[in-house]
Amino acid sequence: MNRRTKKILKLKEQKYTLEEISNMVSPVLTPERIRQIINKANEDSLSFCIKHKIAFKKSCPICNLEKTYYLSIKNLSFEELSDEIERLSKYDRTKETVLQRDILIRRLRDDFGFSFNKIGKILQRDHTTILWIYHSKKNI
Ligand SMILES: [Zn+2]
Repeated sequence: MNRRTKKILKLKEQKYTLEEISNMVSPVLTPERIRQIINKANEDSLSFCIKHKIAFKKSCPICNLEKTYYLSIKNLSFEELSDEIERLSKYDRTKETVLQRDILIRRLRDDFGFSFNKIGKILQRDHTTILWIYHSKKNI
């Protein structure tokens, strides 16, 4: 990223309009050109998800999966969750299933207030496993 681009991004962060940035940086650059430079810089720059330890361009794909799954189950009652519970209590270590199981555990603990023992029984796992998953994924 060159100095001019850095300056433009900084001004944009400070909430200057494209018009103002154009005037400040170079009158040769139209507001439209400024917009293109900003878009390009945003596309090129990678962000890093501390939780999942991956770099990404727009948003962390794993965080997105988590969010999508959480939203899909967040309004379900315990009875309505029974199919999910049955599916996720099966042995399946694929990434997506593990992630969904973790979120289900959070929901059972945080929203229903179940003990780790009870969650362990529901998901047919040892309560220490549940405890470990719960605490290791605390920052969802
Ligand atoms: Zn993430």
